[in-house]
Amino acid sequence: MMEKKHKKSQHSLVREIKDNLRASPDLGIKRCMQCGLCTSNCPAARHSDYDPREMVKKVLDNNLEVLDNPDIWNCFYCYTCASNCPVNNSPSLINQILREKILNTGGNVSRVAEFIEFGYNYVEKGVGTIPSTFFQDLVDDFGEDYPKLKHDLPDIRRKLGLKEYNLKGEAAAEVKNILKASGFTQRLEKLKKIA
Ligand code: SF4
Ligand code: SF4
Repeated sequence: MMEKKHKKSQHSLVREIKDNLRASPDLGIKRCMQCGLCTSNCPAARHSDYDPREMVKKVLDNNLEVLDNPDIWNCFYCYTCASNCPVNNSPSLINQILREKILNTGGNVSRVAEFIEFGYNYVEKGVGTIPSTFFQDLVDDFGEDYPKLKHDLPDIRRKLGLKEYNLKGEAAAEVKNILKASGFTQRLEKLKKIA
């Protein structure tokens, strides 16, 4: 899907981020001093043009161009930036909220399409198992050992004394109910329709 141009809203991006349920009250976004430590430690910045320091600057400037920057989709939420930031800011969290905002307005859904099955696995099995669509890529990366490992995994887990991987019965039903009550399942359906 084409990226959308974002209109000015009456709230600043900083306000929207601070008001987001996921943001802790002491999130240090306004204290960001543009030191660049986040970018210097960011693996996504090392391998692409993504720049968390610059993303935070655009948010502080209420520059909505940040929402149209395809590079912000390269962050993979390792949280290295958050653990190193001297003022308790979290570019990782800011990135998540920006991407959520983009998805909520129908933009860039194609960037999450291949992950939708993760969500369905979570709903069905109570755990976020690897989608089957990733299977061939994993065989390409790890060779024929991967299908063998997948086949032998239940046996290996049994020998190690580990419980079954998927949730069953009451626990699985409880997760399903929580995901439905929180709107997660409906959001998946919506994303699937427009992806
Ligand atoms: S978010 Fe933190 S680490 Fe990154 S530039 Fe701002 S103050 Fe520095
Ligand atoms: S969470 Fe994202 S922005 Fe932060 S260090 Fe990891 S890849 Fe970079």
